[in-house]
Amino acid sequence: MSEPKLFGLLGYPVKHSYSPAMHNAALRALKIKAAYRLFAKKPFEVKGFLLSLRKRNIRGLNVTIPYKESVLQYLDRTSAAVKAIGACNTIIVEKDGALKGFNTDYLGFAKDLSLLKVRPRKAAVIGAGGAAKAVCFALAKKNAEEVCLYDIDKFKSFDLARRFNEIFPSCRFLVAGSMEDLRLKHKDLLVNASPVGMHGNDRSPAEPSQLHPDIFVYDLIYNPAMTRLLFLAKRQGCRFANGLGMLLYQGAVSFRHFTKRNAPVKVMHRALMEALKNDR
Ligand code: NAP
Repeated sequence: MSEPKLFGLLGYPVKHSYSPAMHNAALRALKIKAAYRLFAKKPFEVKGFLLSLRKRNIRGLNVTIPYKESVLQYLDRTSAAVKAIGACNTIIVEKDGALKGFNTDYLGFAKDLSLLKVRPRKAAVIGAGGAAKAVCFALAKKNAEEVCLYDIDKFKSFDLARRFNEIFPSCRFLVAGSMEDLRLKHKDLLVNASPVGMHGNDRSPAEPSQLHPDIFVYDLIYNPAMTRLLFLAKRQGCRFANGLGMLLYQGAVSFRHFTKRNAPVKVMHRALMEALKNDR
């Protein structure tokens, strides 16, 4: 009897991830003989691990912090989106053993915005790391006219803006020197792609006075489900969402890459909600 296939999440640390719950529920629902595991690897272990995937019968991986950018050097093939974004969150082992990288984060974010009926023209993004790059790529693909970036590390925002201005001449990427410089009064979407809000006592990155009912506030954080930023957004009468939808839809696209089957999205959503409930 052949060994069951394996999929999993590569990162460090990874133990708080909901991906196993979501993917294992989907594998069970479609009666696919495979399992999704966590692979916590230290930086010096990553290369050897990636080279041994085929031998271990690992057919596909998701990649999370801190390896979304550094895995690129070990990939044999990459999608156009990975090249543009500069980050990869999904790897499949092809029949010839080659590793091919995809970015499904941007698709997850774009899909969730569509479902929420958000059509941003002028957006502000807090953070300029791996997730922000995927968000910016999705916003440009969705024909946003302007995206203003603020990161505590100005070099990161400048680098992202420079690269994306070259790739997307129809969308203007600007850098803000402070939260005030984001000029949220003139924006219709605010995305928090920084980790601010993940911890219970974190402050909101935006002041209540900067939020107005015509701005949609999207926080990539999904645990806690209601960050301080989202709490203020609600109070100021804004429409808002947390990052659960992005997580779900990026997972659904990854699942299709892994198994070549359409993802049972409702099953995955239920599994995510259950995992979140058990975590509280
Ligand atoms: P990352 O690569 O570490 O990027 C975060 C960026 O935010 C860094 O450049 C960081 O700067 C910056 N930053 C930190 N504090 C800030 C502040 N007060 N103001 C402005 N910028 C600040 O992390 P990531 O992978 O992009 O993830 C960011 C967040 O998105 C995390 O909370 C993650 O869980 C979430 N996420 C959610 C999904 C989803 O599916 N919902 C997917 C991916 C990521 P320094 O490096 O200098 O601290």
